[in-house]
Amino acid sequence: MTIQEQFENLEKTIRSYNPAADFAQIRAAFEFAQKAHEGQKRKSGEPYIIHPLAVAQIVAEELKLDSESIEAALLHDVIEDTAATHEQVSKLFSPTIADLVEGVSKLTRIQYATKEDEQMENLRKMLIAMSKDIRVILIKVADRLHNMRTMEYQSPEKQKQKSLETMEIYAPISHRLGMQRIKWELEDLSLKYLDPVGYQEIVSKLDAKRQEYEDFMRRTQIQIDERLGEMGIQHIVYGRMKHPYSIYRKMFNQNKSLDEIFDLFAFRVIVENVGDCYNVLGVIHDLYKPILGRFKDYIGTPKPNGYQSLHTTVMGTDGIPFEVQIRTKEMHEIAEYGVAAHWKYKQNGQGAGTEGRYEWVRRLLENQEGADAEDYIHSLKVDMFADEVFVFTPGGDVQNLPAGATPIDFAYAIHSAVGNHMVGAKVNGRIVTFDHVLKNGDIVEILTSKSAKGPSRDWMSIARSSEARSKIRQWFKKEKKEENVANGRAAFEAELKHCGIAMKDVLAADVLPLLLKKVAYPTLDDMYAAIGYGGFTAQKAVSRMQGELGRIAKQHQAEKAALEAELHPPKGEEPKSSAPKRVKSEQGIIVEGLDNCLVKFSKCCTPVPGDEIIGFITRGYGVSVHRCDCPNASPEKRSQPGQEGRWIKVTWGNDTNDSYPTIVEVVCKDRLNLLLDISAALSTTNTFVLGIHSRSTEDQFAIFRLEVRIKDGTQLKALMNKLHQISGVLRVTRPAG
Ligand code: MN
Repeated sequence: MTIQEQFENLEKTIRSYNPAADFAQIRAAFEFAQKAHEGQKRKSGEPYIIHPLAVAQIVAEELKLDSESIEAALLHDVIEDTAATHEQVSKLFSPTIADLVEGVSKLTRIQYATKEDEQMENLRKMLIAMSKDIRVILIKVADRLHNMRTMEYQSPEKQKQKSLETMEIYAPISHRLGMQRIKWELEDLSLKYLDPVGYQEIVSKLDAKRQEYEDFMRRTQIQIDERLGEMGIQHIVYGRMKHPYSIYRKMFNQNKSLDEIFDLFAFRVIVENVGDCYNVLGVIHDLYKPILGRFKDYIGTPKPNGYQSLHTTVMGTDGIPFEVQIRTKEMHEIAEYGVAAHWKYKQNGQGAGTEGRYEWVRRLLENQEGADAEDYIHSLKVDMFADEVFVFTPGGDVQNLPAGATPIDFAYAIHSAVGNHMVGAKVNGRIVTFDHVLKNGDIVEILTSKSAKGPSRDWMSIARSSEARSKIRQWFKKEKKEENVANGRAAFEAELKHCGIAMKDVLAADVLPLLLKKVAYPTLDDMYAAIGYGGFTAQKAVSRMQGELGRIAKQHQAEKAALEAELHPPKGEEPKSSAPKRVKSEQGIIVEGLDNCLVKFSKCCTPVPGDEIIGFITRGYGVSVHRCDCPNASPEKRSQPGQEGRWIKVTWGNDTNDSYPTIVEVVCKDRLNLLLDISAALSTTNTFVLGIHSRSTEDQFAIFRLEVRIKDGTQLKALMNKLHQISGVLRVTRPAG
């Protein structure tokens, strides 16, 4: 086809759906673009005009858009790639068309790098937000479709990069806008370059079976057609096949072979009334064996977007399963045109004049079965993200900020430290003031300095996001506290020195909590802050601590002496009788050689009866019981100089408590109803639950920390076994250390 013939073909396509189009202006746009791109060649060696012409053809054929869109599609690369300007296009055609072209160029300029899912979602939103007129994104999608169709002329590197971008950005956008056919084609084309082997495998398998499949589809269609005819049911029936990418996804994700895919084929039966839908269903189930659990009645229970149909999957002749969708003509129209068709019915008569104008929107809504109504009304609104603005970091990440956001919001969105050290900001490479309002697609860079003096009070009124405001507020509070803490610490240290007490004695792990209790502050910093602002004095703090330090030292000495006396009785005294002395246990624990001593269970390893255990004589807290396999009671710890004498043998008595608190950790692949199964395991083992904490990891794992009360090792073992049996559970452990 010559270029002229291609253009005439475009005119013919437009005439078929919009005879009133502005053909003179469309021809003018074509001629202007042809002249502007004169001499430019595509990678294929063809004249460049082939490309805008093909994009306009897609815009007309697939989307049936208005004259302005066709003109803009023809002109879509002239501002970016030729000497033509916005003013020129605006004057020769219209300001709207110039804006459309400018909009498409803007999207072309955005550089994407592969990112995590969340970043991708932001990028997609940004693209839509930047297309103030929804036609911009439609033309851009058509542009991408043609580029993907002609990707074979690009370098392998470019093929991969563009395909990835298409798969992650343009295919999902097409889906959201209801352009199902374009979405499929984009996915198939991308797959061809992203996984050539996988793609080829499917295509050749389909090719090998093409004859068989086509025969099957024809046969089945005739079978259904004839039977419905015999029954006297007015109907239309046709079939379609799944496209390669969705077959690929099913085959590779669910590890299925081509023959195992249930919905490789689908037939659609369109009838006159609701009664006939159910009649057809009866006929289909009579003709073929239905597959259990695959029948869905969206007529009785329509989807949120108004979609209605009966869906069923049946086993065809030769054991090939296929899906059948049954609906009335009216339901079909709603399925094709979506919610807009509803509006049309509701507003019957009113606003009839605008109908033609929105015809293209209605076309867009084809095949909206997948999306829910809200999703979908959103996709229609061009101002759907009017309250958000999307900007880039210099590294190409997208930040999502409230509309009207300034560099201050951006800085605090990155990190509070960036905000607190900000000294300046650049937008698209130019220095701007802090109250500069950010626009979609801006690249924002924050200049920071270690010696920045921090936010100023008026930033609170410049910032748009509550996040930035609260971080600034925090800074003022914290910054003051830091000053106070620093001053308080200095005073306290001076006073300690004055009294001849070493700081390390105060900081000793087993002493500090007692000292803090004495001065009634939760942490040292809190005490410092109080001293700093004058609510407390360093003198009072030190004198109270001095008293407590003395008491602890005395108690420790007494304990040690008692222990010595028990373990090594002075010479001359009667040795202990050989029969074990009847010792009373404390909370079920017998401490060798010690009666009546305070026993506590260590929080790090939460021992239960049956565990091998060992005791540690603390300063002032009695004997702390650890599991022998607890890292805090490791042989190295036990043989640390000065500590050996404090480890002591302990055993479980016969009179253990009813239960002991302990912790079990469960790592599993995250899924639905996981917690339900864990609860069942807890209840069948009669385990009393103190608390359950769960968190999910980025790679779809869930970690549960179960705080439970356990009677003994037998019960614990039973519980851990039960947990292990739950599907998806990888590990059940008792944390220690
Ligand atoms: Mn282009």
